[in-house]
Amino acid sequence: MIDFELGEALVGLRERVRRFVDSQVIPREAEVVRNVSALERVRGELQAKAKAEGLFLPTAGKELGGLGLSWREIAVVLEEAGRSLLGPQALNAAAPDEGNIHLLAHVTSAAQRKRYLVPLAKGEVRSCFAMTEPMPGAGSDPKLLRTRAERRGDGWVLDGEKWFITGFEGAAFAIVLARAPEGPTMFLVDVGTPGLELLRPIPTLDHLTPGGHCQIRFSACQVPSTAVLGEPGKASSMRSCDSCPPASPIACAGWESPSARRKSPAATQWSARRSDRRCPSTSQSRTSSLTRRLKSMPRD
Ligand SMILES: Cc1cc2nc3c(=O)[nH]c(=O)nc-3n(C[C@H](O)[C@H](O)[C@H](O)COP(=O)(O)OP(=O)(O)OC[C@H]3O[C@@H](n4cnc5c(N)ncnc54)[C@H](O)[C@@H]3O)c2cc1C
Repeated sequence: MIDFELGEALVGLRERVRRFVDSQVIPREAEVVRNVSALERVRGELQAKAKAEGLFLPTAGKELGGLGLSWREIAVVLEEAGRSLLGPQALNAAAPDEGNIHLLAHVTSAAQRKRYLVPLAKGEVRSCFAMTEPMPGAGSDPKLLRTRAERRGDGWVLDGEKWFITGFEGAAFAIVLARAPEGPTMFLVDVGTPGLELLRPIPTLDHLTPGGHCQIRFSACQVPSTAVLGEPGKASSMRSCDSCPPASPIACAGWESPSARRKSPAATQWSARRSDRRCPSTSQSRTSSLTRRLKSMPRD
């Protein structure tokens, strides 16, 4: 039988994260909503505070300066952090860096670890993950990859287009999925490498993710042989390695579900107040089923 008791230490950690989010993170939300360009600075300041309070990097091992938690413990911490959209960023546990830290922790060479993973884990740089391509290229299925990687001399040349690349603007490097002769392959590409360009930040509802969600292009972009992450042709198995958690549940644990939970009281109150002249909107079928679901979610 699964024991769902959290235990004293984990309850204590949860309370510390909760206090941190309430006292340090939520008060900064208005500042970045009013002025999106302040986001990188606020993120840095919050990360410094999270470090000082021993709450930084909850999703990584102690060898990287993380808290060395189990996945169950991480879920509890992320649920608290995600009550603010800035919470996971403050703890350096937000996508795409969080997933990239895990991936790099399992497949980097010693040199790649020092150059890319260590500064990323410390929060000194940001990264992005570039897989999705405009139609008819790859989305969730790497078999559809159209971005090509060809060997040239001692290195590789990348050509193709990606979109919805979260965090690209201002990132130090991208982990890029491309089709090599051996199959889907991951490359570490420094942002600023000639041949890698930003086409546009794609307009989305989300304005609180540093670096936005971008469309980018690789045109004869040359990278050295040391840019290959793991082995050529092994990208699919690396992305789903046993110890790499799937990104979507992590995003849900740390972002969508808790922020929805924080907003549910406001949504239900609003819905109860809204009415046309005949009846409150809560009694109308679609709104009432939504509010029933919101009400059934645990409250803060
Ligand atoms: C805000 C935002 C941020 C994003 N950030 C990033 C990012 O940083 N990096 C990045 O690379 N992408 C990013 N994406 C893209 C996102 O990861 C893709 O939308 C996602 O991978 C799905 O791809 P798709 O939209 O092309 O849908 P598809 O791949 O066409 O999938 C549509 C549906 O078909 C299913 N499906 C697909 N292939 C198969 C198959 N072979 N068998 C059975 N079912 C299948 C899928 O499960 C899904 O339900 C972002 C998207 C958004 C909206």
